[in-house]
Amino acid sequence: MATARQELGALGETIVKRGCRCPKCKRTGSLVRLPTNFKCADVICDFCGYLAQVKASRVKDIDVVPKSVMGAAWGPQSERMAASIYFPLFLVLVSEDFKRHAIYYLASDLQLPEMFKPRKPLSLTARRAGWQGFHYDLVPVRDRFVRLS
Ligand SMILES: [Zn+2]
Repeated sequence: MATARQELGALGETIVKRGCRCPKCKRTGSLVRLPTNFKCADVICDFCGYLAQVKASRVKDIDVVPKSVMGAAWGPQSERMAASIYFPLFLVLVSEDFKRHAIYYLASDLQLPEMFKPRKPLSLTARRAGWQGFHYDLVPVRDRFVRLS
């Protein structure tokens, strides 16, 4: 059974596939989901190979980029940053009743290291003890997002 968070993530990827052109080759409908265990990106263009991350978040107001959204595992993210690898980010904001959504895009060139903030590792009693995640601090990059729809 998928968790609510996984379902929201899948919804975000579906919205991107239907609603976005590939930023590189400009095709519509070519950004397809990668397997969930794929670490670096969430969608790939099945025509040109372009990779991007997709973050979906349920918010009160889809017209405003939130201050922060939940990220993923910190380990691979910090290693990629050490290697100066950044992936473009689609941010899908979904209204609380799931009826409306907005798509925002942040090119990798416009990202900043300080937008990736490590969280505290999970306690030793947690199911995934010691696992460490990160969140996106969007305040320093808020005005760099482009709204696509
Ligand atoms: Zn493409």
